[in-house]
Amino acid sequence: MGIPGEHLNGVYSANEFLTRINLMHAYEFPKYDAPIVDFRGKNVAVIGGGNTALDSIRSALRLGAGKAFVLYRRSEAEMPARKEEVKHAQQEGIEFQVLTAPIEFLDDGKGWLAGARCQKMALGEPDASGRRRPVPIEGSEYEIPLSVAVIVIGTSANPIVQSTTPGLNTNKRNYIQADAATQRTSRKGVFAGGDIVTGSATVILAMGAGRRAAKSINDYLTSGEW
Ligand SMILES: Cc1cc2nc3c(=O)[nH]c(=O)nc-3n(C[C@H](O)[C@H](O)[C@H](O)COP(=O)(O)OP(=O)(O)OC[C@H]3O[C@@H](n4cnc5c(N)ncnc54)[C@H](O)[C@@H]3O)c2cc1C
Repeated sequence: MGIPGEHLNGVYSANEFLTRINLMHAYEFPKYDAPIVDFRGKNVAVIGGGNTALDSIRSALRLGAGKAFVLYRRSEAEMPARKEEVKHAQQEGIEFQVLTAPIEFLDDGKGWLAGARCQKMALGEPDASGRRRPVPIEGSEYEIPLSVAVIVIGTSANPIVQSTTPGLNTNKRNYIQADAATQRTSRKGVFAGGDIVTGSATVILAMGAGRRAAKSINDYLTSGEW
């Protein structure tokens, strides 16, 4: 996010937070002493409005968060999460603070997260994504106490592919370009599919691409033709 305080203990990325909860068994605390801030009974917020943000905050609620917030800089209409997810999260008591962006994470003086300073937003003209751009409202800053903040503002491809793999074409967002029917890339013998081609999407799309790629790989290996 590029705001002060992102380094504080208690500020997580979504994948780190969910990995600790699930794969490292924080949900079975104290049987598993998974390294995660004990937020039971305390305030937790996610920053972002996608499905992963809602996965994170609903997980936090299940693990005993006292109050759970979604802080999203656009309005509910622009939220990328599925409508059902939003509705279910609201039904579970998660509080949505829309048109709100954290501008600083606050330190408790010992390197732990104490809260966030937020700013209200208004919607301006559409940006490159086609969604209306959030514009900060001067003088609207306020503070919210938090023990945990989970930053969930999207993922992107690792740009290293371009420099390490000559002949493999990527697009301007560093995703690999692949033929939609065969999953072939621009580099002979290399096939690609799933999120690395489409950007963050779904399991079913990745599986479909995997099946198409498997068939194409088989065709290539048996015929020798590219
Ligand atoms: C928190 C979260 C919740 C989600 N919820 C849903 C959901 O409910 N429903 C849904 O359909 N989708 C969901 N998705 C999206 C879904 O997980 C992805 O769309 C899907 O996993 C993409 O599959 P993939 O095979 O393209 O990539 P991945 O599943 O990311 O697999 C890529 C694999 O490549 C490995 N890898 C990376 N670099 C290398 C390397 N250099 N060498 C070897 N291996 C490497 C990685 O470790 C990984 O195992 C969710 C995603 C997240 C993050």
